[in-house]
Amino acid sequence: MEIPSKLLSLINHATANAETSLVYKKPQQMAIEQDGKNYLISYIESLVEKESASKKQKVNPFENPDPKLVFFKDSSHTLLLNKFPITKHHFLLITNEFVRQDSLLSPEELKLTYNILLNLENDGNELTDKPIAFYNSGPNSGSSQPHKHVQFTFVNKDYKLFPDEVVNCRTFFIPDQETPALQDNSSAFSHFIVPLNSENITSEQFGMAYMCLIRNALTVTKDHTDLNSNVNATELSYNFIMTKEWMMVVPRSLEIIHEDTINYDFNINALGYIGMILVKRLDVFNELVNKADNECKIRINDDILLRGGYPLTYVKENDNYDY
Ligand code: AMP
Repeated sequence: MEIPSKLLSLINHATANAETSLVYKKPQQMAIEQDGKNYLISYIESLVEKESASKKQKVNPFENPDPKLVFFKDSSHTLLLNKFPITKHHFLLITNEFVRQDSLLSPEELKLTYNILLNLENDGNELTDKPIAFYNSGPNSGSSQPHKHVQFTFVNKDYKLFPDEVVNCRTFFIPDQETPALQDNSSAFSHFIVPLNSENITSEQFGMAYMCLIRNALTVTKDHTDLNSNVNATELSYNFIMTKEWMMVVPRSLEIIHEDTINYDFNINALGYIGMILVKRLDVFNELVNKADNECKIRINDDILLRGGYPLTYVKENDNYDY
């Protein structure tokens, strides 16, 4: 796909034209710190509306997408606005033909995703927010649509994403046994990061680095399969997140994490693993943002995110069968 040069203007134009088709209410948002980590908690009223609308949608919404939402199309992929945006600019890259959401991203799709991020970052002064791409894949990943789609959203540049610190200006490499993928050792959940600070990473290099992260995720999933009967190791679930500076894979064991103390189900997708926690109940939002750290009943990193993923460290019984 040749990305149009003024992508952001196209998105703005499409958003203005599609206003009546979009289900959007500006979220209430608050940045908090808990156990030394940053989170951006959002109360999104329209999530309730989205869930009931999604349940009613019996057809694949990406088979014949609403033309009002589409702002670019070529022979293989389409760019369209998300009907239920969580930020002002929230859009999707979908395949024109049906391809399963649990299939891997191709080297070309990885490069295309990166080029879209670059295009948005370079597009003028308008952006106070940073573009992020994400892909929820597999039954425990938090995805809701089976047709292949990469999502793009934005986060305020003041909000620090933890992989930025991990990467810390390192340049691109393809992980191997000597130089494994990077991780934040203070995190409770398993994740694998590759820096992307480099000129001209080819689609093949993107593909090879991504496959290393997928292999790591498969190994972690396999290592826990015997311990967790809910998980089928042949059905990999993971969240993939990409910015201009890095890409990360988080293997997932559970999509909905029930919090007993407040009787609430957290539905966590890729955004949760960069600390962006979306909630649809005001009392849960208040619990998270208004209580002092040690009074808050909910522990995000070492409870919610850990239960939705796998532990960062564990004792391996046997290395012989790693992917
Ligand atoms: P996921 O839940 O990760 O599978 O992402 C699917 C995305 O598609 C969600 O963010 C939805 O808001 C979005 N979506 C659902 N229905 C439509 C639709 N008819 N047109 C455009 N986007 C949609």
